[in-house]
Amino acid sequence: MTLSLHVDTARWREHLRRFAESVENLVPVAKGNGYGFRNTTLATETQRLGINVIAVGIAREALRLLDAGWRGDIVVLNPWRPSDPVASSLLSNPQIISIVSRLDDLDALRCLAPQARVQVEIQTSMHRHGLPIAEISKLDLGPLIFEGWSVHLPATGSLTEATELARAAQQQREGQVWVSHLDVDAYSRFAASFHGLTRMRVGTRLWLGSSETVATLATVLDVHPINRGEAVGYHQFKVPSTGFIVVVSGGTAHGIALAAPTAQRSLRQRLKTVAQGALDASGRSLSPFTIGGKKRAFAEPPHMHSSMIHVPGSDPLVSVGDQVPVTCRMTTTTFDQIIWQ
Ligand SMILES: *Cc1c(COP(=O)(O)O)cnc(C)c1O
Repeated sequence: MTLSLHVDTARWREHLRRFAESVENLVPVAKGNGYGFRNTTLATETQRLGINVIAVGIAREALRLLDAGWRGDIVVLNPWRPSDPVASSLLSNPQIISIVSRLDDLDALRCLAPQARVQVEIQTSMHRHGLPIAEISKLDLGPLIFEGWSVHLPATGSLTEATELARAAQQQREGQVWVSHLDVDAYSRFAASFHGLTRMRVGTRLWLGSSETVATLATVLDVHPINRGEAVGYHQFKVPSTGFIVVVSGGTAHGIALAAPTAQRSLRQRLKTVAQGALDASGRSLSPFTIGGKKRAFAEPPHMHSSMIHVPGSDPLVSVGDQVPVTCRMTTTTFDQIIWQ
């Protein structure tokens, strides 16, 4: 009755090991839904890799890893703000490294937790968080424990940008430079030019970098023959052609068919949106479930835990209990179970 993530454990771990070997001072990122695997699992794997620092998104995620027994350091990636009581409560914890990205916050932080371990985030071409490089001369860390500089680059991270920012920062104050989103080769060059005083945070390429070692499967829960024009589902939409309603596990509660806005730059991606739009306009929407080798249309929008799929023709191609592939966005899907094979 489940939506499940199947992991070929040995091969997945082999990928993790190789990736970790290719990146000097790797900092695994475990945040959100744990890239589908859950953050506690990622913490265990980080430990298996012999790495004693992990990065999380927010303070609450750090709390959960501490509760689960994580013994190493935890970098909280979202910069500290006075409005987050959980983040404030963790400031003095010796395992926690907080990130500060505004001079005002630094003033507040110095008073609140003078012994806190902090990284200073520098603004990059991302323009998300970070102190403008022109302001770093105004930094007054006082007694705070300085853990280095944080540089968060766009997905297409440029070595030149990382190097320029890191050099300027190092001139102000020597410390480690924690970067993200450089490719492995660019990062190697970066690490070499800073004599190993660098670290790279990676989530996606580490945990999801070998797609052939994971499979996402839904279970067929019911199969009903249906005639063209018959009404089905909550919305009583009429079925466009004779065939079958196949009910599969996986619905909105799992994050099925919840699409985030995409960065639609390529013609191919935009054409895909047009095709989906045309299907939507006809009252049908392509589902992420594959039945008989093809993605099939939803009979109606997904329910909380299951979805109704329309399979046209005289053969439903599946029976109750079968597992069918489902395409999941790993950062928005909550699986009922993870099967370690
Ligand atoms: C999420 C995050 C990362 C990891 O991003 P991936 O694309 O999953 O590798 C690295 N650095 C920061 C600051 C982040 O927020």
